[in-house]
Amino acid sequence: MTLTDILKKSRDAESFTREELVRMLSYPAHSPESFALMSEARRISEAVCDGKAEIHGQFALDLAPCACNCLWCSFAKKNNVFKDQWRISSEEAVEMALGFERQGANAVLVMTTAAYPFSLLLDMAKEIKKNLKPGTVFIANTSDRTLPQAQQMKEAGFEGVYHALRLREGIENEVEPAQRLASIRHFQAAGLWVGTCVEPIGPEHSNSELAEMIQFTASIRPAFSGAARRIPIPGTTMAERGMISELRMAQCVAVTRIAMPRETRGNCTHEPCTLGTAAGATLLWAEMGANPRDDQEKTEKNRGKDVQYCKDIYRESDWRVLDGPSMHFSSAPAPLKTP
Ligand code: SF4
Repeated sequence: MTLTDILKKSRDAESFTREELVRMLSYPAHSPESFALMSEARRISEAVCDGKAEIHGQFALDLAPCACNCLWCSFAKKNNVFKDQWRISSEEAVEMALGFERQGANAVLVMTTAAYPFSLLLDMAKEIKKNLKPGTVFIANTSDRTLPQAQQMKEAGFEGVYHALRLREGIENEVEPAQRLASIRHFQAAGLWVGTCVEPIGPEHSNSELAEMIQFTASIRPAFSGAARRIPIPGTTMAERGMISELRMAQCVAVTRIAMPRETRGNCTHEPCTLGTAAGATLLWAEMGANPRDDQEKTEKNRGKDVQYCKDIYRESDWRVLDGPSMHFSSAPAPLKTP
């Protein structure tokens, strides 16, 4: 299949085979073909998002050495980065959530390690939610959940979750992929939107692995998909494998957008960068507190970026930013504007 065939198929909003995705990922990241795919992904993102990109503000409710031992994560017990554990108070959580709201984040996301008690997550959610403006979209990034737990999360005020089947899940961590899949089904059955991503991409992942994961994310009809590279945590074995370039990540962002159903509005990338947004990313995260890609306890003092930084990234790549609650987590997908 030629690039012309691929672009025509995309413009006709057809779905792609594994082999076609592998072909798209096989072009050198700096090639004319790759840039053409980035342009096509940008066209789709502009159309499905009505030309407006989003910024979500996320912060962690806790920091703890985590027994799931995802080797790319600074919280993993095996990585021995953080030895202490702490939880933020409800007052601190509300303050951070309101801070993101004031800065103009389109959604607020709370993150926990697997060790965080579920009942405490519900209590914190209720407290945060009652302090947010009624329209503010509230999202959780937490561990695997049963259907009754997912229903309780919905009742506590969450509109959606971030949940991903990670690359080499079950091989490079101690999480059962089947558990992830079951949780995604539970969240969706409870009426929670699921946003996801192809992550954490490293230089060792083959095009075939990436294509398979892109197809998986498309199959769950998420609120958003996207692509994010692995950030090396200094001193860990995984850091020795290195990191893909921003340009390669942008290519993955573009191929993911092209492969998603058009009902999926959002296309994320992390960490925030203009190459990613130029190539069709419409969701960036501002971050505060503990961060699994950082070896500092307060990421805002190191890797984490604020809402204004993300706005600047969008401005530099000619995106307008949505003013108001997230449309990625919306029940009414925008009709695709055909060129
Ligand atoms: S990514 Fe999440 S589940 Fe995995 S070690 Fe880090 S905190 Fe635990």
